[in-house]
Amino acid sequence: MKRRKSIPVKVGNIVIGGDNPIAVQSMTNILTEDVKASVKQVKELARAGSELVRLTVKDDAGAKAIPEIKKQLLEQGCEVPLIGDFHYNGHLLLQKYPECAQALDKYRINPGNVGFGKNKDENFEAMIKVAIKNNKPVRIGVNWGSLDQEVLKKLMDENAKNNNKKSNNEIVIDALVVSAVESIKKANEIGLSNEKIVVSAKCSRVQDMIKAYELLSEKCENALHLGVTEAGQGIKGAVHTTAGLSVLLQKGIGDTIRTSLTPAPGKSRTEEVKISKQVLQSLGLRFFSPEITSCPGCGRTTSTVFQEIAKNIEEFLQQKTSEWKEKGFKGFEKMEVAVMGCIVNGPGESKNANIGLSLPGAGEQPNAIVFADGKQIKTLKGNAEELTKEFTKLIEKYVESHYSK
Ligand code: SF4
Repeated sequence: MKRRKSIPVKVGNIVIGGDNPIAVQSMTNILTEDVKASVKQVKELARAGSELVRLTVKDDAGAKAIPEIKKQLLEQGCEVPLIGDFHYNGHLLLQKYPECAQALDKYRINPGNVGFGKNKDENFEAMIKVAIKNNKPVRIGVNWGSLDQEVLKKLMDENAKNNNKKSNNEIVIDALVVSAVESIKKANEIGLSNEKIVVSAKCSRVQDMIKAYELLSEKCENALHLGVTEAGQGIKGAVHTTAGLSVLLQKGIGDTIRTSLTPAPGKSRTEEVKISKQVLQSLGLRFFSPEITSCPGCGRTTSTVFQEIAKNIEEFLQQKTSEWKEKGFKGFEKMEVAVMGCIVNGPGESKNANIGLSLPGAGEQPNAIVFADGKQIKTLKGNAEELTKEFTKLIEKYVESHYSK
């Protein structure tokens, strides 16, 4: 798959776009002025793999908190770039709080709500000038929930004169793209180069989001931040996001991604980071931790032993990832581990994986065969706990022998 050529943008300690890995980002969901809680959540998100973290900056309290959040994060060894999310009053806050403007690594500007009429251009210009003064990049982030109504009206009027050749939905998508492209042009005219501009055009409907980014990718060379906005909760939110992101990423479109998941009450915000990472890993675009291949099970493996072992190995691989990284093992993130339920596909999948366990199905000999690099290396026996223990030892050995520094 050929990646779309985009102009790289340096954001704090990472670079988005160009040939750089597709970056994962996320956003906090607590009051920014709560410095302690913000620092804690930014660290959690960064530890989970978020390479940029956005915080809302909606008022004086939030703007005042940003420099302290940044300071405490750096003191605690967390260098993740921070993005300020501005709506309505960003021009005022960025000018009133220069330390906030300096502490942030990027500003998100929403052209749909920077102001109206004459104020719109003035406010937009004020934000871009702060970015230039502080040598910071921006994201021009249009969103169909807060679309620039002036652009929309103009396109609707043109369409009416043109016998309504396009549907209202098509005009909304066109308006998103026009708003983004015109804003890039304006920012360039004010003096901000494309090396400082990331762009996004988020929609909550997957097909609309795909169309908007396809059009946008043809109309600019800027690095693109992808997201299905307001994806929803749980399985729906995860699949909705995955569907939208995957189609675009497979076409080579997208330099950074976010999963906009509504968290279930009490659930960690890091869920959205895990989904984004899994999308990239499932597409083979990035590798974060070893993956497990396990069959769905069927009438040939009705016991829970197979399910328990698959779960145990999954957890084991997640736990071990940071330890193996710290020990300096190289390339283990691409390792494939199979846990299979019976003889039908078990030996085949286990041989294809780096290391695999082919369990006995109902009525088969109670032998669990281990394959490594396509060859049978051991036969294990026992219950789920014993088999997990033996198999994890063999995985450890495999990592030490295949991925040492
Ligand atoms: S490998 Fe065996 S247990 Fe697993 S789904 Fe296939 S037939 Fe069923």
